[in-house]
Amino acid sequence: MSPLPPHFLIDRYGRRVTYLRLSITDRCDFRCVYCMAEDMAFLPRGQILTLEELHAVAQAFVELGVERIRVTGGEPLVRKGALELLENLGRLQGLQELTLTTNGSQLAQSAARLKAAGVQRLNISLDTLDPDKFRQITRSGDLAQVLRGIEAARAAGFRRIKLNAVILKNRNHHEVADLAAFAIANGLDISFIEEMPLGVVDDHDRAEAYYASDDIRRDLAARFSLHASNEHSGGPSRYYRVVGSDSRIGFISPHSHNFCDTCNRVRLTVEGRLLLCLGNEHSVDLKQVLRNHPGDTAKLKKTIMAAMEIKPQRHDFDLAEQPVIFRHMSVTGG
Ligand code: SAM
Ligand code: SF4
Repeated sequence: MSPLPPHFLIDRYGRRVTYLRLSITDRCDFRCVYCMAEDMAFLPRGQILTLEELHAVAQAFVELGVERIRVTGGEPLVRKGALELLENLGRLQGLQELTLTTNGSQLAQSAARLKAAGVQRLNISLDTLDPDKFRQITRSGDLAQVLRGIEAARAAGFRRIKLNAVILKNRNHHEVADLAAFAIANGLDISFIEEMPLGVVDDHDRAEAYYASDDIRRDLAARFSLHASNEHSGGPSRYYRVVGSDSRIGFISPHSHNFCDTCNRVRLTVEGRLLLCLGNEHSVDLKQVLRNHPGDTAKLKKTIMAAMEIKPQRHDFDLAEQPVIFRHMSVTGG
């Protein structure tokens, strides 16, 4: 195998970074209990990257060998100009995959345009199929609207849509089989996620709400015949196949199954902080480079390459120590 060109992104542990998660807003129309406090203060406009700055960073990463970009937030589709940004990202030479994570609230009206923009895959959050519980967990969301969004995404031709469900004990843990059945019936994949201690939330004690992936798998096995699969989507999900269906069931288990060894990703917060690890505060301020050296792509790329030196080896979440990380998932870019 020929060695990689020197300008590719490789960290101290030999992991090649090929995946950028790009947060384009910290705002959201929901206030999910595991993600946000009820009363959130959002960033003032001057503090967040403009759409042009977000595009410039994305372009620099692609020129440095990043092949996949996932746009996220906050709720990415509530940012004005999000669709135009996605259209421009979809045109980046060298980008192999553009994907989006969304709560689904805006999908009914935007799914077709997202598809036309070149978004290849969607992750849609769905933690419950009970409208009352949905409102309680999201504190404001309307389940019917999200279900219409999922339908619109399927009608727009999106394939391999993946649902994301964060599972909390005594909140939605008894719904895992119903959620899996919904995914199977609609030809979707689904990943079950263990809650991570990101930011202070006022709704529940995270240690008490912890429900392990292995418990979810045991619950599912009572209704479905699951087979471990060695396929992966380049992310932290471990997948299972359900006998008799095309759906994949994934588990994202930051507590019970560490996935750091194969980490290929970094995150950009909407403030322009390049986060080298979900579970550590190591970061580099790219906004300062963008604003002090406008148009200086070489400087931007040099800063990104140097940042690889501080990518930590692993995260270490400890639910007994609250909070480990002070930024919320909505700021981190989940
Ligand atoms: N608003 C969009 C959504 O909900 O899909 C995109 C951003 S959201 C931060 C991305 C993902 O992070 C969602 O699937 C959400 O369920 C998950 N998430 C948020 N807070 C989390 C936490 N504390 N632990 C684990 N997952 C979390
Ligand atoms: Fe909003 Fe997504 Fe966080 Fe829920 S998980 S509050 S939808 S950003």
